Amino acid sequence: MTLKSARKDIYFDDLEERPVNARHIYLERKLRTAVGQAYKHAPAVKEMMDKARVKPGDIRTIKSLMRLPIIRRNDLVERQIKYPPYGGLLAVKPENVERVFVTPGPLYLPLHSARIKWFAQALWASGFRKGDIVINTFDYNRGAEGMLAHEGLRQCGATVIPVDDNKPETLIQLMHDLKVNGFVGTPSMLMILVKKAEEMGLDFRNTFNLERAWFTGETLLPEDRKTLEDNYGIATSQGYTVPEVGGAIAFECPQKTGLHMSDAYVIEIVDPATGNQLKPGEIGEIVATPVDNKTWGLIRFGTGEMASYTTERCACGRTAHRLIFKTE
Ligand SMILES: [Zn+2]
Repeated sequence: MTLKSARKDIYFDDLEERPVNARHIYLERKLRTAVGQAYKHAPAVKEMMDKARVKPGDIRTIKSLMRLPIIRRNDLVERQIKYPPYGGLLAVKPENVERVFVTPGPLYLPLHSARIKWFAQALWASGFRKGDIVINTFDYNRGAEGMLAHEGLRQCGATVIPVDDNKPETLIQLMHDLKVNGFVGTPSMLMILVKKAEEMGLDFRNTFNLERAWFTGETLLPEDRKTLEDNYGIATSQGYTVPEVGGAIAFECPQKTGLHMSDAYVIEIVDPATGNQLKPGEIGEIVATPVDNKTWGLIRFGTGEMASYTTERCACGRTAHRLIFKTE
């Protein structure tokens, strides 16, 4: 990992504090490259763009993405049945795929190594560093999160303990014995562990060393966040991951006022019926296009999840816009 930023303890990447306009120019340049490569190497993208009568040269700005249809999860599953195994979206030779994640559907998702950085950036923002001892409760086999969180934590310098198929009693024992101070997983999993420890007669706050937790895969409810932070002294952060496009596409900083969008994606908030892009503050569907990989030619993936976004400056200094999820 190379960090040139003078504030490298805060930012994983120099780009995080780049001026808003510079980021916009950067993202549009990456978008043009990504669309050009996908059109050339992924047959499904060529077919879709030809059908829409759009040439790669027509997609030069984030706004121009509105000329392309939104692809949803069902479309991907159907495409993979029709054109096995990757639905015509693989933009590299099959032998260059490092790992394939199998998700329900089934949907086969090829790994590209850029994904690891996106997770690392999210975990870094939540404070994981060298010296931390972290249990990783995500599934290492069936989903992408287990392995990606593992590698991301390693890029932050942390020690990782893979524990995906252990019982709560076993996890509580090893958290105690190994002086675990970090947790990654779902909020409900951590709530189970805290409650189980108390059922076992243990004083969780004073007997354990848990300082920090990072969640994804489920929404962190405000009441659970309050319980974990106020009653147990655990700093909580969350990332928003979309397996179909490959990673943590937005993540919280210590300010916890929305999730900063990752620079590895063009993220749009759109009217789900028309695909038209919405303004800051308007609630719409999150649509993501990965622009930092050459492997997976997915453009305009509709997540089916709703959020708004804000362009207001964040006190952490990161300049990326933030997704706001409504949780109440
Ligand atoms: Zn921030």
